[in-house]
Amino acid sequence: MAMLVGLALLAGCTVPGRSTPTCPSGDPAATTADGGSLVIIGRIVTMDEPPVAEALLIDGGTVAAVGPRDEVVALACDGVPVINIGDGVAYPGFIDSHAHWIGDRQYYGLDTPAEAMDAALSRGWTSISEQWVDEERLDELTALAADDALPLRVDAYLALNAPAPSGEHFGDWYADREPGLVGDRLRVQGVKVTLDNGWGTLSHWAPAELTETIGRANEAGWQVSVHTVSTEAHEMVLDAFESAIGAAGPNPLHHRIEHAIQVTDEQLARMVAMDLAAVIHLDGAASDWVLEADYLGNLGPGNPGEEIGWLARWRDFVNAGLHVAAATDTPWVYPEFELTDAVGRPTHQIAGGMDGRGLANPETPEWVLAQLVTAEQGLRAVTIDAAHALGDDSRRGRLRPGLLGDVTILSGDVTDATPDEIRAMTVIGTIVGGRIVHCSDPGVCGDD
Ligand SMILES: [Zn+2]
Repeated sequence: MAMLVGLALLAGCTVPGRSTPTCPSGDPAATTADGGSLVIIGRIVTMDEPPVAEALLIDGGTVAAVGPRDEVVALACDGVPVINIGDGVAYPGFIDSHAHWIGDRQYYGLDTPAEAMDAALSRGWTSISEQWVDEERLDELTALAADDALPLRVDAYLALNAPAPSGEHFGDWYADREPGLVGDRLRVQGVKVTLDNGWGTLSHWAPAELTETIGRANEAGWQVSVHTVSTEAHEMVLDAFESAIGAAGPNPLHHRIEHAIQVTDEQLARMVAMDLAAVIHLDGAASDWVLEADYLGNLGPGNPGEEIGWLARWRDFVNAGLHVAAATDTPWVYPEFELTDAVGRPTHQIAGGMDGRGLANPETPEWVLAQLVTAEQGLRAVTIDAAHALGDDSRRGRLRPGLLGDVTILSGDVTDATPDEIRAMTVIGTIVGGRIVHCSDPGVCGDD
């Protein structure tokens, strides 16, 4: 885990004539326990208005100002650290809305949660969502939160059943809890249903049982995320969500479908009507594509050729107006469990969405060309729409006054680069709640 102490102060951040540590407003400098204060100067991509700014002020852990350099700097309290990111570009902190960084860390040979979180931070994630948390894992996360040992934000989704092969159901073990924050960094607001297996060949739920289970969670105010691969599973989950929230929505808890590998046109229309979030894998889905024959084979020999159009419908989802989040599903999407530099990165989600290439898929399959998305769409999928998929877009996903001061600084601008240039970008720094929790360039964000 990277450390940061004693940032250099720029002369320009001190208002001339001011000798006490107060802000121009006269308020005392922020002193909240968790939140840091910081000014960032450089190219700031806000995912808001204005889309690009010259400077950002984080005060007490939340964004206080975004805008022209002089105006933002003038608002900073005396003594607030200022970092100038030079040629780097700052973005709203990237959100990995579906992964298993901590819970399944052993597949990468990582022994401790701290190592797993450091791996995520160094790749540029400021929030990770643990998508399969049983009681043991929840105890571990709760202890980390109590010990102030979460350098990034964790959204835990409580598992209602085991994956294949057992599929064992755990019952409504969340029911004695209230959904919400557990400390500053841990949020427990969702439950996770693993409806079918990775290839969509095995269902772990009967339709009525799924409908009743989702209905109870919805009624109790819990967001529901459902691992759904096959068209048969989509039919079941759409029926269940319609029973819970109505065929036309709305969907205030942001219920979501994970993976969404095979979706018919009619099913996509139902997803849109309910405003369900879709969580997909723009880099790792490359391995899905390699397995296209397996997926199509699910439907039996002789399935019509046009069904290839049901697979990995990224652009169709985006064009239909769904909230589409891109997530790594670390460590499960990649064919080999090896945590190389290229694995689990937000940059590779964006680049993979643009050219359809990934670790398992060095060449773009021709049939995927129709589903490629733009850099801007990929960026939304790891910021605004990822925050939406967490049901937390009122706090995260863009840089706007009042929202959390989470920032990822990359070495370049993903909206003005080729996919390979994006893959080559490095993470200069990762900032959570105004505190620099990872810094790879001491000249920019380090102490010397
Ligand atoms: Zn997963």
